[in-house]
Amino acid sequence: MKPDFFNRSALSRQLWEFRREFFWVGIFSMIANVLMLTPTIYMLQVYGRVMKSGSELTLLMVTFFLLLFYAAMAFAEWLRSRLLVRAGVRLDEALHSLVFTASFEAYLNTARHNVTEAFSDLTNIRQFLTANGVIAFFDAPWTPVYIAVIFLLSPFLGWLSILFAVIQLGLTLLSNQLSLKEIQIAADAGSDSYRYVQSKLRNIEPVHAMGMVVNLRKHWFSLHDASLAKAEGSLDRQHRQQSITKFVRLSMQSLTLGAGALMVIEGKMSAGQMIAANVLMSRALQPLDLVVATWKPFVMARTAFVRLEKLLEAFPERAPGARHQDPFGEIRIEGLSATAEGRETPILDNITIMFPASKVTVILGPSGSGKSTLARCIVGVWPGKKGAVLIDGEPVESWDRMELGPHIGYLPQDVELFDGTIAENIARFAEVDSQKVIEAAKRTGIHDLILRFPKGYNTEIGEAGGMLSGGQRQRLGLARAMYGNPALLVLDEPNANLDEAGERSLLDAVSDLKKAGKTVILITHRPNALAAADLLAVMQKGKIVHCGPRDEVLAVLRSESARPPSSSST
Ligand code: ATP
Repeated sequence: MKPDFFNRSALSRQLWEFRREFFWVGIFSMIANVLMLTPTIYMLQVYGRVMKSGSELTLLMVTFFLLLFYAAMAFAEWLRSRLLVRAGVRLDEALHSLVFTASFEAYLNTARHNVTEAFSDLTNIRQFLTANGVIAFFDAPWTPVYIAVIFLLSPFLGWLSILFAVIQLGLTLLSNQLSLKEIQIAADAGSDSYRYVQSKLRNIEPVHAMGMVVNLRKHWFSLHDASLAKAEGSLDRQHRQQSITKFVRLSMQSLTLGAGALMVIEGKMSAGQMIAANVLMSRALQPLDLVVATWKPFVMARTAFVRLEKLLEAFPERAPGARHQDPFGEIRIEGLSATAEGRETPILDNITIMFPASKVTVILGPSGSGKSTLARCIVGVWPGKKGAVLIDGEPVESWDRMELGPHIGYLPQDVELFDGTIAENIARFAEVDSQKVIEAAKRTGIHDLILRFPKGYNTEIGEAGGMLSGGQRQRLGLARAMYGNPALLVLDEPNANLDEAGERSLLDAVSDLKKAGKTVILITHRPNALAAADLLAVMQKGKIVHCGPRDEVLAVLRSESARPPSSSST
């Protein structure tokens, strides 16, 4: 039966899958550790049997077996390392897709999530599993066996080794108790400072142009200094503890030899037994030493494990959503409210509105009134919402993302393009269908422009569309939104960076879409776009204040602006 721990999360369940590997690692560790007694036995044989008999043949035989056992021990150690390396790689393979998706969703839900952290956590766990660290934990249980053998040689030395093992273990536990929290705090401070630099580098141009580097550096210095101080304190303590441990260990080794010599003087054991006991003692304490040395990687791997476990718990692998028929693109919104972390007032406040299929609805409203948030809710990427967004009567969350995605064309306000060719970007990084790519580019009027690039559609555009102008990026984003003729298009200020020609092609594209029966929701500040609208919605402070056929709403707006301001208004 699976123990409770292994039922806890996807990660622990995955570890349970490796029980056979761990079992065999345990077996090979047993073989290696039993064979580790070889030098002791060899020593006893040489000092005892060989020296006494003076037989060269015995020495040869004993040496032959020694080499044979050494080879078997090396083989067992190699096998267990190999098993662990394979297990680590398989663990990574089994989890990387889950980690990728969870990390992606966590970022969607909170932009503060550090995307790379989850991947380095996974690497940390894998490296711990495949490095010497985990082996120390398999060797440590053999310490009592070595001590038992010491007992056979001399009960006095046996008790002494128990005392030394207890001292060493006590020291380990104490030092861990003292340093565990500090290690974590130092690691957190380090990643805060790293994250700060990373986020500023993403926006390097305004930073450089407006001479903000010095100010930002000042802030980074304070983060970095804090992280250095914490790392220094933590390392200081660790090194102090390591020095104490080393002193204790060396003293213990020599004291064992001294105690052995005393026994020999008193005639209670032979010189061979004395040396053998000494070798055994250091061998018995070695795994404990290794556990101390690998404590830091262990703590880091454990922290990584807990963090990854939490991430995978918060964002488990989703069952594929319901499969519906291809959507027509009718959007109904009922009692929709949206909030954000740390914000008291809602961004969207109990909105109910309908965007009929095959119609173009333009959304107007002052800056900050919640238009982009509404767009995000419609395409199902806003995390903190209440109420319902229904696509063809079905909640947006219930749709299978992979199925729904191709039917949605979404152009966010900040167009982000990805590292790859123009064609790949337009085709949403799916298999490139050249005909559809060209069709989308023609619709947005950028086909000729693309052909003027050195490699046309195969031009690499770099991360975030580095080699394109703002307007070109926006039109490429628009082509990506239109790729594959989606039923629903949500365009958030698609004309913000467009020149007159660009805006004209946009409006032509929108009327083509309307003719083709597509639903278009267009957010804009520019009145030109109204020409394409069937319906008009006006937002203010998170509410829809007007909604209806374009000309009716425009008439209301005109009459409102003609009305003298009421005494209560400011
Ligand atoms: P604009 O016309 O300037 O693009 P908008 O009408 O599209 O504005 P939104 O971007 O939806 O407005 O923002 C509405 C409000 O929600 C703003 O006050 C903004 O500060 C807030 N807001 C938007 N995104 C977030 C977020 N991720 N976290 C907290 N508040 C947010």
